[in-house]
Amino acid sequence: MLSAPITTNSTPLRSCLARLYTVLIVALSLCFSAMATAGGKPARAYLPDNVELDPAIPTPESVLGYNVGDWHVRHDLLVTYMRSLAAASDRITLEVTGYTHEQRPLLLLTITAPQNRSKLEDWRTAHMAQVQQGKKTPADAPLFFYMGYSVHGNEPSGANASLLVAYYLAAAQDERVTRLLQENVVLLDPSYNPDGLSRFAHWANMHKGKVLNADPAHREHQEGWPNGRTNHYWFDLNRDWLMMVHPESQARISKFQHWRPHVLTDFHEMGTNSSYFFQPGVPSRKNPFTPEGNVRLTNALAEYYVSAFDSEKQLYFSQEGFDDFYYGKGSSYPDAQGSIGVLFEQASSRGHLQDSINGPLAFPQTIQNQFTMSVAVFDGAMANKAALLDYQHNFYKETAELASQDDNAAYLIHEPQDSWRLEKARWVLTQHNIRYQQPREDIEVNDTVYKANSTLVVPLAQPQYRLIKSLFSTQQDFVDNTFYDVSNFNLPLAFDLTFAPMSSRELRRAKFTDTSPSPAPIVPVDSDAYAYAFEWHHYKTPALLQQLLDKGVAARIATQPFTAATTQGNLSLAAGTIVIPRGVPQPQALIELVNAAAVDAGVQVLSLSSGFTTTGIDIGSRSMVPVKAPKVLLVGGEGVSPYQAGEVWHYLDTQVGMPVTLVEQRHLDNVSLHDYTHVVFVGGRYDLPEGVDETLTDWVRAGGTLVGQTSALRLFARHNWLDIKLSSRQDVADLFSDKKLTFADRSAHNAQQLVAGAVYQASIDTSHPLFYGYDAPRLNLFKTSNMMVFSNASPTVVPARYTDSPLVAGFSADPVANEIAGSVAVVAEAMGRGRVIGFTDDPQFRGFWYGTNKLMSNALFMAEAIN
Ligand SMILES: [Zn+2]
Repeated sequence: MLSAPITTNSTPLRSCLARLYTVLIVALSLCFSAMATAGGKPARAYLPDNVELDPAIPTPESVLGYNVGDWHVRHDLLVTYMRSLAAASDRITLEVTGYTHEQRPLLLLTITAPQNRSKLEDWRTAHMAQVQQGKKTPADAPLFFYMGYSVHGNEPSGANASLLVAYYLAAAQDERVTRLLQENVVLLDPSYNPDGLSRFAHWANMHKGKVLNADPAHREHQEGWPNGRTNHYWFDLNRDWLMMVHPESQARISKFQHWRPHVLTDFHEMGTNSSYFFQPGVPSRKNPFTPEGNVRLTNALAEYYVSAFDSEKQLYFSQEGFDDFYYGKGSSYPDAQGSIGVLFEQASSRGHLQDSINGPLAFPQTIQNQFTMSVAVFDGAMANKAALLDYQHNFYKETAELASQDDNAAYLIHEPQDSWRLEKARWVLTQHNIRYQQPREDIEVNDTVYKANSTLVVPLAQPQYRLIKSLFSTQQDFVDNTFYDVSNFNLPLAFDLTFAPMSSRELRRAKFTDTSPSPAPIVPVDSDAYAYAFEWHHYKTPALLQQLLDKGVAARIATQPFTAATTQGNLSLAAGTIVIPRGVPQPQALIELVNAAAVDAGVQVLSLSSGFTTTGIDIGSRSMVPVKAPKVLLVGGEGVSPYQAGEVWHYLDTQVGMPVTLVEQRHLDNVSLHDYTHVVFVGGRYDLPEGVDETLTDWVRAGGTLVGQTSALRLFARHNWLDIKLSSRQDVADLFSDKKLTFADRSAHNAQQLVAGAVYQASIDTSHPLFYGYDAPRLNLFKTSNMMVFSNASPTVVPARYTDSPLVAGFSADPVANEIAGSVAVVAEAMGRGRVIGFTDDPQFRGFWYGTNKLMSNALFMAEAIN
């Protein structure tokens, strides 16, 4: 990584020179904006005028070795500075709440007056009694602020401003900070996404010259692939607040639930030609479970942002553009829980200086604005303290009332065959402080009996009622049909769990226990067995199979069901069962390998006593197809969706334990495809190097498996790898009449045509190898695009089509949903000795659509069974 120049500590002369320099630069930049230079400033210059600062507190420049804004702060330096502040200031304690994938520490600073330290836990306990039991807190109770910055790593003004906010709170002797810290607690989370911040800082710093270049075309302002927005696996962490796939989110949610702050901030950046946005957002685009009181308070706080920016003659806007619907984002997750989440969006300099329609935009100015808004949050919340305390109290009362008026008393969730997905649901509920109950006896709801040990019951009469309702929502009609990205985030649908509402009578009749069922212990296999086998339903079976193949174990796929004699008696095993015969060459340590892999995956392996089966295929049957160990090439690079590529990498790496070779599309002509069993294309715009399409065709004909998802299917159709037709943008537009459309209505008209993240149901052929492990004839898929795939081929080629009435949850206009009905969800065509597989949707969506993850594993492990 680039190392910053080390300079001496700031001196009065130096800071005077710096100010002179700044004046000079502003003057110069008016004439030569493309060549302008705009350096950072000593911390004092960012802070309110004339504030008295404690000289014992180290300034950022004294630790970083440069002025804030000169360079994009490296995360290790940010950590060093925060640690030195905590060491020097009795107002600050610092804790490491977790580590990112790249092992960067996640920090949380607790900042309050020293005399409050001993009261902190009492304050928190009283506050939590208010949040969880509705006990009113006294009027002088503290406010808890959760100040969080830069969840998108290439929106760095927030994290750079956090250096100044922390310094100001540690060093300032003024009335504002003194009162703030005497009466309240500030939790400061300086960098929500350290890995992304680091990636972007590296990019911006490595392109910085002695003379700054404001030309938007300069490489500094045009990041490479993948950019710094996302985390290590290229996930958008600002979509991960609910399902917490990543350690950054897990650490943050744990602290949020520990403190349940009154206000949480989420500092972002947007396009360079924008100005500054703060909430309130569009009134009609808030989540229906967010109370009006939240909007009133958001407005009251905004008065302070307005006054701060008006006095500086800054451009800004609010009440347009952004979305408050999806609770998986930082500015809306708190809204479901009696907190006020506030989104701030600063126009991005995306580098050190960039020309914009509003003049040259300098990085230090963007930092300054985030600092100014942070202080305005403190001012606004302190002025509205009584209202914020009251709001949390009323939130509790109103939520309890809503729950008591609900037609249902609880939701039941159930999964009989895959304990992993049920356990994952239990974990998510626990992290959000949602209470659930474990049935002691089987439960009967609506004439269906649910087994006690594979069922959870989530009662609605609890403080997290609003969050629960949104996690179980199947809403399809909305006040406003414009969605930022998703219109549904139903947990059981995503995890492919059965769920059902329960009436209060059914809930009363149910009997519960305090103890969770402990997972059945994995029993070692019988060393005398004829063969070993495991069914394919459990989420972790691909990980088990991968571990065995990696160790050289020979395995077979049962392509038809059979009944085998096992040490547990005669068992009926479904098609897709993996069989490990002893009668073929196997590693010497087979039994130890099988036992170790079974324990790792948490999947019981069965011991079969004979090759003869009472029904179905025998173990030596030709319908037991050998599994080929997958060697996967994932196509990435410019034009390819980093999200989808990251999801495939993340799934195979963290859930299956399989290495993936990532090759940029422009280098595809440099690799020998014969080293790979699979090539995976995710959504993206593809322009393959010359000759690669023929090479791929030949490789498939020779036995390769080509897998494509979402917009990659356009490439597959173009090269006739799949015999499918795809809808064009015009085809979708033609579904809607624009005869009476006014110019003003055009964006709402366009929104109608989109599928903005909704759940669709397909009917699936469970006997097809791509659906091994699934028993139900219907599967829920998450659809993020209105791209439709058409084919008249038979079910053997199209094993999944959307049902006649396919929309299950979320928004889609009727003409779109009707057109999707009956179209292709999954297609698999043989080509020579190989095959081409297409998924219309993204089976790894955001890493938490656990219900469809197995489709990718089946495309990899079951490929040989397809033709
Ligand atoms: Zn952002």
